[in-house]
Amino acid sequence: MILIVDDNQNNLYSLKKLLESKDFQVDIASSGEEALGKALKNDYALIILDVQMPDMDGFEVAETLADYSKTKEIPIIFLSAVNTKKKFITRGYASGGKDYVTKPIDPEILLLKVKTFYSLQEQNLAMKKAQQGLELEVKGRRESQVIMKSQIDHFHLMLESLPQIAFTLNEDGIVDFVNRKWHEYSDSEHEFPETHFDDHNIKEEFERCKKKGKALELEVRIKNIESGDYRYHLLRVTPVYEENTIKNWVGTFTDIDDQKKVEKEKDEFLSIASHELKTPLTSIKAYVQLLDRKLKLDKEGAEAGFMIKVQDQIEKLNTLITDLLDVSKIENGKLKINRKPTNIGNVIQNAIDTILQTHEDRQVKIDWHGMKPDILIPLDEIRIEQVLINFLTNAIKYSPQNNQVIVTTFVDEEEQEVKVNITDFGIGIPDIKQDAVFHKFYRVEESSLQFQGMGIGLFICSEIIKQHHGNIGVSSKVDEGSTFYFTLPLN
Ligand code: ADP
Repeated sequence: MILIVDDNQNNLYSLKKLLESKDFQVDIASSGEEALGKALKNDYALIILDVQMPDMDGFEVAETLADYSKTKEIPIIFLSAVNTKKKFITRGYASGGKDYVTKPIDPEILLLKVKTFYSLQEQNLAMKKAQQGLELEVKGRRESQVIMKSQIDHFHLMLESLPQIAFTLNEDGIVDFVNRKWHEYSDSEHEFPETHFDDHNIKEEFERCKKKGKALELEVRIKNIESGDYRYHLLRVTPVYEENTIKNWVGTFTDIDDQKKVEKEKDEFLSIASHELKTPLTSIKAYVQLLDRKLKLDKEGAEAGFMIKVQDQIEKLNTLITDLLDVSKIENGKLKINRKPTNIGNVIQNAIDTILQTHEDRQVKIDWHGMKPDILIPLDEIRIEQVLINFLTNAIKYSPQNNQVIVTTFVDEEEQEVKVNITDFGIGIPDIKQDAVFHKFYRVEESSLQFQGMGIGLFICSEIIKQHHGNIGVSSKVDEGSTFYFTLPLN
């Protein structure tokens, strides 16, 4: 809006009309005092100011406007009919005005000047707005920097108070914070602790995970600087994502050395106990078979029934001890796989036949779906049959209300593997427990009382499949059933 100040009403209205005809918004004041009052209250883009007015002349008005921050930037065009002398014009400029127009006014010239000033002032205002915006942004950024710094300090304080070794890595994987505990195992803030020469290299393992953007979990022995001893630690390094990109990594080393020692002692005990139990059991088995042959019991008599029960129980005990021995072989890295090209279809058929024979009392029904794979693939026949028998035994054991089991096989040419599924319609396994069933000694709590077992069969299966470079897994729904599967590479 433009403010016109003139004590002459005629001039005031003719100028107002002129400017309004060019679509400018116009306000008027007929004295210097009124002009000051209005300028302080409203926002004007330009003031056209008559120099000669009775009480307060135009120069005084301009000087006063220059004193107020709100009005000092408003451009002014002075109008004067008389004083065209140089000294008046100079005063006009000195008092903060921007231009000078003499009366009688040439409307075209005045309009040109008004337009120029008006657009200059508009640009000025826009620039100021942009500057204010920028200042606000800078302020906001400074504030968020302060907040972030205090959050980081807080986070570091938390890491400091942990009993574990804790550290952070930046997005490039360079260690940028370590807590006090770190110094018990490393001389340098930037170097990982020294690992035992038999264990994985932390840097290499981390680089591998970094490439995939995945967390690292590793059991390693690291060297304590003071004692020189290597202690087992569980290393975990987790990526921190921000808008789909990794911002940094947070890591901890948890001391699991005592736990490892206890585990080792337990494994040693298991290994000794199962070896020691196996020898007398083998003798018992042989003598019972001898006795059975010598006694020639009447097949219909009760004694023959007892003899079968004794042999069944010996067989169960034998399986248990063999499994325990397998576990200790796995622990010692001695579970050897002897792969030979074998017809996988035959191995599956043998396993099904064995199960049907040993579960005659349950009237189990095993259907085989899919093409029977009549192909030779490199595998350890005894061990793969062990996996199949384990899956099938579990499928029957954990389906007390249903005797139906489905075996499905298919050869995936693209993946170059054969997949075997064994589906039952039994009790199923809750979602969160499905991965754990392959862990050593794990049994699903809800069903562990109802069914006998030690929780090592699937652990052995997963080790056997791993050694064949295949995959093992389960999908299951509680009360609907489970499908256990494994894959084997064709070559
Ligand atoms: P075990 O059967 O001797 O306990 P496994 O290692 O064979 O040991 O199985 C581990 C656990 O997985 C079992 O205790 C059981 O809770 C669960 N499980 C295995 N197979 C099935 C199945 N087919 N249906 C439901 N639960 C199963």
